[in-house]
Amino acid sequence: MPLYTQVEPPEGYSAPGFFATTLDQVVGLARKNSIWPLPFATSCCGIEFMATMGANYDLGRFGSERLSFSPRQADLLMVMGTIAKKMGPIVHQVYEQMAEPRWVIAVGACASSGGIFDTYSVLQGIDKVVPVDVYVPGCPPRPEQIIDGFMKIQELVGNESLRRRYSPEYRSLLEKYGIK
Ligand code: SF4
Repeated sequence: MPLYTQVEPPEGYSAPGFFATTLDQVVGLARKNSIWPLPFATSCCGIEFMATMGANYDLGRFGSERLSFSPRQADLLMVMGTIAKKMGPIVHQVYEQMAEPRWVIAVGACASSGGIFDTYSVLQGIDKVVPVDVYVPGCPPRPEQIIDGFMKIQELVGNESLRRRYSPEYRSLLEKYGIK
């Protein structure tokens, strides 16, 4: 992979001296290349995320080297690791504290489905407490898989309509999770 990549322009009309596109596309382009992730790492998958941030994989290439440990300054909640049922309300609270628009990745089998821990104490997937946009399989997933999941989020972010967050469908999705 080259040291840097040039971002493709959004779809639009161009001619000598002008380029026209939609506001959705321009905002999407800016957002998808400047996502601030909040790493919510509780166990082994978190170590893979550390590798993803390291020099070999370097999530900074995607404009996301600035991790946020404050939910209010984060766009993307990345849940990595086993989430005990007692932790469920905390994940929910962190999600609620994030400003819209916000996205969520469940990284690894535990966050996606409880993984191998089919027990009374483990939450069988974080989608029981927050809406999830992308699931990354694996136990643990390799950094390449985490980056693949991240790029899928970028695709969603880049193509999301500015009106989606005000739509009745989105509101009813949040209502299902008890979020106003
Ligand atoms: S999915 Fe596997 S590697 Fe990831 S937190 Fe669960 S047990 Fe650990």
